[in-house]
Amino acid sequence: MQEASLKRASHADAQVHLTGGCQCGAVRYAVTDEPIMAATCHCRDCQYSSGGAPAHALIFPAGSVTLLRGQAREHRYKSDSGHIVMRSFCPDCGTPLFGGSDSTTYEVVRAGSLDDPEAFHTRVSLWTDSAPSWHHVDKSVPHFPKNGPPA
Ligand SMILES: [Zn+2]
Ligand SMILES: [Zn+2]
Repeated sequence: MQEASLKRASHADAQVHLTGGCQCGAVRYAVTDEPIMAATCHCRDCQYSSGGAPAHALIFPAGSVTLLRGQAREHRYKSDSGHIVMRSFCPDCGTPLFGGSDSTTYEVVRAGSLDDPEAFHTRVSLWTDSAPSWHHVDKSVPHFPKNGPPA
């Protein structure tokens, strides 16, 4: 994710499609695009960031997410593919919020942070090989042992 893509709302421009924020309310955001993809990811990194469960992620074009309040804290690390991956969370309450990587032009929003979590409908299951036996892997949608095809 590009730093500049998480710009602050300076004026009401594009139509707001979804809103969300963290549990404590310190960070609020609005999204102005339809999601490109909605994925359930069972990878080990997502297990760490969720507390064990798979991550439910909405993927938007870069620049669609606008911060309305607060600032997410970003954690960057090198993934198995060698790319720098970023995931962020509220510095006060720890709610997982956004993600991205240096190799992609999209922004990830974690479904649990949406004001209306029903807006998430998974379309793919990823990294199913990494799922522990107690994960429910949704095989009613296309599913992949590792990363899926590019969104
Ligand atoms: Zn918070
Ligand atoms: Zn993952």
